[in-house]
Amino acid sequence: MTGEGKSNTTLLLASLFLGGLAGLLVNAYVAPEHSLRIALTGIVDFLGSDLFVGLLKLIIAPLIAASIVAAIGTLNSLGSLGRIGLRLMAFYAVTTTLAVLVGLACTLVIRPGYRTAALELREAREAELSVLRAEYDADGQRGAHSANPRSFEQYIFEHETQHQASANRQLWSRVEATRDTGIWTLIRTQLIAPMLVNPFHALSQNPPNSLGIIFFAMLFGVAALTLPAAERAKVFELAAILNDAIMKITSWIMATAPVALAALACSVMVKHGLTALSALLAFTLTVLIGIFLHSVLLLLLVRFLGKRSIPEFLLGIREIWLIAFSTASSAATLPVTIRVLKEHLHVSERVANFSLPLGATLNMDGTALYEAVALLFLVQVYGGLADTPATFTIATILIVVVMAIVTSAGVAAVPGASLVAITLIAASIGLPIYYLPLIYAVDRILDMFRTATNVMGDAVAAVVVERWSERSTDLSRP
Ligand code: ASP
Repeated sequence: MTGEGKSNTTLLLASLFLGGLAGLLVNAYVAPEHSLRIALTGIVDFLGSDLFVGLLKLIIAPLIAASIVAAIGTLNSLGSLGRIGLRLMAFYAVTTTLAVLVGLACTLVIRPGYRTAALELREAREAELSVLRAEYDADGQRGAHSANPRSFEQYIFEHETQHQASANRQLWSRVEATRDTGIWTLIRTQLIAPMLVNPFHALSQNPPNSLGIIFFAMLFGVAALTLPAAERAKVFELAAILNDAIMKITSWIMATAPVALAALACSVMVKHGLTALSALLAFTLTVLIGIFLHSVLLLLLVRFLGKRSIPEFLLGIREIWLIAFSTASSAATLPVTIRVLKEHLHVSERVANFSLPLGATLNMDGTALYEAVALLFLVQVYGGLADTPATFTIATILIVVVMAIVTSAGVAAVPGASLVAITLIAASIGLPIYYLPLIYAVDRILDMFRTATNVMGDAVAAVVVERWSERSTDLSRP
């Protein structure tokens, strides 16, 4: 990494720290309704989420399309494309599985749901349930004579949904919309349906429909490979020029990053503070330790499969780590990921352009790990209560592990998107979805860490697949 790169990262780190610190102070000492706090939140949200993330989101759709077509243009043949694609998918599957297993091991060892704070939550809930039972017996028994008697579970569900709908309206509506979705419906609606859309519609959706763009760009690129040489060259040349121009725009946007990162960190800290983290300390630590251990595993893969030095890799990716951390969106980070991997880690155009859009869309190690830990934690806390059929058994663990791996690929690369997958898995293991709000309070902060891990996983895959492809003929000049 160049001296300029180093000082830039130091500047980003300093802004993140100072912005976060200012936010924490405001959160602790200025009342939520105070006009200063309201004005500050407005300003930092404008600078961070509206301008910076907005500008990055603006270029994602054309960038994905141009990168994939340009990458296909630089591959030798359809066979090379297929081999690189298969290696990537296999690598994603292995690292996502590893991430979930690390999350499971941490949950089994740390047992966050059996710690004192969690046991207190469980006891309080047990007491609430006996009150509800008594109410049901008095009120619900009358219902038993009506044409439509309610079971105790239905009675509690109605009670809890009314409460959640008023306490956490926005998040709750997303949870409710997903609760009856089965795994096949999820695959159909989240993975297959988005691919089969009009490409112009996919490009114009907000956030952009990455799967739709990738699918069409691949079809288009492969079709272009079959055209006569002169026409083929024009198509790929145009894609490469578009790609270069978008990279230029990315570097302009990145010039505003020091201010933007301070604003993003300040906004998160003003709104969420750190008090929620201490209330859910064991759960938070389990996720963070899991993420740390998985990152170590990823670095070993960089060393032994990618044959790169770990310090060099870490220095190379620190800028994208910081952007992913502060935006909590792999999609918004994508333009920077592509630029950094090519410029700092010298990954070839074709592997970077092809693998990184795919990785940002499908490969989510941090998300998969988080899904598993969150669900197992909730089952530890509430499993077996009067309204919770789920219990902490091997069968539950197996379902959670498999579903976390599969559903993470369908999670959108935007903030808070894991919640949809977590709701789906909760419904299928018999964990009532009104228990999910327990983790809302720490979700945004943990999202920053899991998104950084998602993006790190994509970078590792690119470095390893680059190495594998160098050894075969896939990366020789066409
Ligand atoms: N925010 C994550 C990402 O963009 C997705 C999630 O886990 O919510 O990668």
